[in-house]
Amino acid sequence: MTKPSLVIHGGAWDIPQSLVAAHRKGLKTALKEGWQVLLHGGPAVDAVERAIIVMEDDETFDAGRGSFLNAAGEVELDASFMDGKSFRAGAVAAVQTVRHPITLARRVMEESEHVLLVGMGATRFAREQGVELCSLDDLITARELERWRSLQGKPKAKTKDAFRKKRKPTGTAGAVAVDREGNVAAGTSTGGTPNKYPGRIGDSPLIGCGTYADNVAGGVSTSGWGEAMIKVVMAKTVVDLMALHNGDPAKAAKEGLKILVRKSDGFGGIIALNKAGDVGVAFNTPRMARAYITSSMDSPLVQI
Ligand code: ASP
Repeated sequence: MTKPSLVIHGGAWDIPQSLVAAHRKGLKTALKEGWQVLLHGGPAVDAVERAIIVMEDDETFDAGRGSFLNAAGEVELDASFMDGKSFRAGAVAAVQTVRHPITLARRVMEESEHVLLVGMGATRFAREQGVELCSLDDLITARELERWRSLQGKPKAKTKDAFRKKRKPTGTAGAVAVDREGNVAAGTSTGGTPNKYPGRIGDSPLIGCGTYADNVAGGVSTSGWGEAMIKVVMAKTVVDLMALHNGDPAKAAKEGLKILVRKSDGFGGIIALNKAGDVGVAFNTPRMARAYITSSMDSPLVQI
């Protein structure tokens, strides 16, 4: 029997001091709820979904309600899911009226023969599956509407700048878990980058870029400048490195980040978990909101 572990993130960016407490609180709740699943012998896929749902519901994070608006002033949400046991994967991109995109990504994985559904087709699938839909406005907060208004009429900033110091925030949500049976799962959910071009998707809904899980080695979820992450196939690269380095997740995450910087001058953060439940984190943004708990720990570690 494996010892369960759960690691989550709430985004890698220049989190201002004023938002640290809200991130800490949100991470704690999400970790606790996901951990309860594993403690009761539940599967890694359930723990990952639960933790991310909590963050999608928490306006602090750029996922679900509270997500950034695109240049047209609308939310477009992306999410992906991978089950390291069955080696199945599912993802949705640019959905607008789905309350929990991570749940829809899981349904694509488990209930369809596809891996990625986008836009109207993804919403149609949600309806067929009985996945909760909501109005566009339900997901938009006053804070994000204000941010969007303040960005209009100004020269468009480079997406990359969102991840540098003292630039606009982001705060994607992700989780990786290993359960008692030794099964690994990973998921990521995001509203993407602020003021993004409508239809733009980043790394988060792309299997291998934002999310990857394989029972043979472990799992990864990422946050950061998606355009750079996509080019180095970030999540899969780190899982491969984990397999190469005798399963060391810290070494793999660090080396993966070096590749991101060297090859695509990128910014971001990585959470990695090996099949034995060891955790590794690496980031080159000013801060990364992350938390984890393993069976050998008395209390969770929450760091920002
Ligand atoms: N990676 C996400 C994207 O590019 C954003 C983030 O993680 O903050 O859409």
